[in-house]
Amino acid sequence: MPPTPRPPRPFKREHRSYIPLPILLLTSLIPLLALLFPYLSTQPTHAFSPYISSTPVRSPKALILTAHPDDEVMFFSPTILSLVSEGWTVSGLCLSTGNSSGQGDIRTEELYGSYEVLGVVRENVKIVDHPKLQDSMTSQWDPHLLLEIILHHLKDHPVDLIITFDEIGITHHPNHISLPQALALLQTHTQPSPKITHLKSPGVIPKFTGPLYPIYLNLQKILYHILKSDGQKEGQGEKGLAVVSSPTQWVQSIQAMMAHRTQLVWFRWLYLAASRLMWVNELIEI
Ligand SMILES: [Zn+2]
Repeated sequence: MPPTPRPPRPFKREHRSYIPLPILLLTSLIPLLALLFPYLSTQPTHAFSPYISSTPVRSPKALILTAHPDDEVMFFSPTILSLVSEGWTVSGLCLSTGNSSGQGDIRTEELYGSYEVLGVVRENVKIVDHPKLQDSMTSQWDPHLLLEIILHHLKDHPVDLIITFDEIGITHHPNHISLPQALALLQTHTQPSPKITHLKSPGVIPKFTGPLYPIYLNLQKILYHILKSDGQKEGQGEKGLAVVSSPTQWVQSIQAMMAHRTQLVWFRWLYLAASRLMWVNELIEI
């Protein structure tokens, strides 16, 4: 008996090859990361030129006014790195030694080390240790006392531009908030006063958008190019200047923070990884 022919096999669909999840995630991250890198070449190289007088007779000078050692790197490092790269002479005036835990002497040295990594020599950094200006979450510093100290400092070290906190002080720390109050007095006390800019405090959630914020700014810039909008210039925020660190500068900021050894507790690493202020400073002229 001849063998009965087998019925044709029903058509079987081949299993679709799938992309492993880690590779999928990686490939979707690459365009995002790539959006960071244009800042290596397209970041404005003269972001601070509007603050230089029209007839400069020397290299422009900027003062970073802070309350505690580590403020300069955790909040102001994109600004400091940008100023240094643009040829400004940067100095720092820190109004306390951060002695709330009795480590004022160590923290003073850490401040010098951090500024050095950011490109500011030790001679240009001054730290104040005054009994009425101690690091405290509960004490408001007297703006008139601060004014006296700032005026004395400026007499020997005149500057074109002063950069400090805004009225929120990033963290609502009362010591931070005292500084713009003192500078408001300075503006009424000296004519002409150096130009003053405040570091804009981001909201609580935007504060922790880390590298996503420069990516957002870059996308915004690309959109402006596409739409040929002339409403905003490159590198300009809504009401002031947006200074953005490149990935290399971000690493430099992390290295500066490493100088603050006493402050490197575990939750600070989380801050460094997530903080938008390690990437972007938005400065508002007052
Ligand atoms: Zn502080």
